[in-house]
Amino acid sequence: MFNDRHFPLLPSFALLLLLSPPHPRHITTTTRPRNPNRPAQSLGLKTRTLEFVPNKPTLLITWQGSNPSLSSLLFNSHLDSVPAEPSKWTHPPFSATLTPEGKIFARGAQDDKCIAIQYLEAIRNLKARNFVPTRTIHISFVPDEEIGGIDGADKFVKSNEFKDLDVGFVLDEGQASVNDEFRVFYADRSPWNLIIKARGVPGHGSRMYDNGAMENLMNSIEIINRFRDSQFDVVKAGKAANSEVISVNPVFLKAGIPSPTGFVMNMQPSEAEAGFDLRLPPTTDPELVKKRIAEEWAPAVRNMTYEIIEKGPLRDYMGRPLMTAIDDSNPWWSVFKQAIAAAGGKLAKPEILSSTTDARFMRQLGIPTFGFSPMTNTPILLHDHNEFLKDTVFLRGIEVYEHIIRALSSFEEAGSV
Ligand SMILES: [Zn+2]
Repeated sequence: MFNDRHFPLLPSFALLLLLSPPHPRHITTTTRPRNPNRPAQSLGLKTRTLEFVPNKPTLLITWQGSNPSLSSLLFNSHLDSVPAEPSKWTHPPFSATLTPEGKIFARGAQDDKCIAIQYLEAIRNLKARNFVPTRTIHISFVPDEEIGGIDGADKFVKSNEFKDLDVGFVLDEGQASVNDEFRVFYADRSPWNLIIKARGVPGHGSRMYDNGAMENLMNSIEIINRFRDSQFDVVKAGKAANSEVISVNPVFLKAGIPSPTGFVMNMQPSEAEAGFDLRLPPTTDPELVKKRIAEEWAPAVRNMTYEIIEKGPLRDYMGRPLMTAIDDSNPWWSVFKQAIAAAGGKLAKPEILSSTTDARFMRQLGIPTFGFSPMTNTPILLHDHNEFLKDTVFLRGIEVYEHIIRALSSFEEAGSV
């Protein structure tokens, strides 16, 4: 069912398909988007394709401001998406189906092709009203966010091309809100992968002795579980959000002597290991966590070793916690808040994001960066089956970005930031 109300969705979500090629596996963005330049060029915007790693393009779109001596604004989103299991969806996940109720079903409808298109549609509307930005506005579509951004945003922000942009403030993706308040994120948690290994003397399954590998590993798991409970209790008591504590969750266990029918049942193995997913809020002192791991979770006195794979930074280049200020010390914060109010929107209390986005690479450079996707009254369905966004929510988001772009690009005081 199409009517005037739906019109802007037609070109927009056709682009969503172009931007979001299905990936056969989780691996990487190797499919070059088909002609992603056109919608931006139709707006008279300058486009550039940057390729820091072969076949992993970043599309950079620029709307030149009237005062190039001021720092610029960057609106970021990512080209890739996670895969989908089509058989578990009510509509084909890579076809962007608009239902009669106005729901747009598509992988990427929330994460985060919506904002990619909203940025452009907001510029289209502002141009139609002859608005001229004072600060230059850049839009970047980067690869590989879903697999860690190492060949995407990380390479982009470390490039000379990025340096030349003189970016003063960044908006990146956020998350849907189930009520009528817009959510905004000023930090991400940083993921660590932890693998602990226990070694011990093997022995007959009937023997009781100290320091077996399994016993040592299980002791560690008990200790780690107690720490997990202590963090979770704070959340359960309502004293902190999930994203404000350290989460530690077991993700694999590996032990036992394989036999043709399963495992040898009368042998205690000499090695056992377990893997954990840790998420650290930026307020965490990483050295204290490392000390805890070395002394309590995998101590050498219990024949344990460990490996920590840090999947992202916790500190910026100055050694400061990786978070954007949400007080008067950050002039962009009040401009952003006022823009949301001017759009008739309500802003929820700023949050730390439980997971991780490309925003951490910009924050690492000390650039104030917020995560924001204007989706109110929307179930959180990123990476889920039947990811959808309501057309009314999508269109409202374009209006919100019009206010944001207008306010931020006209803001002249923060010339040096
Ligand atoms: Zn995303």
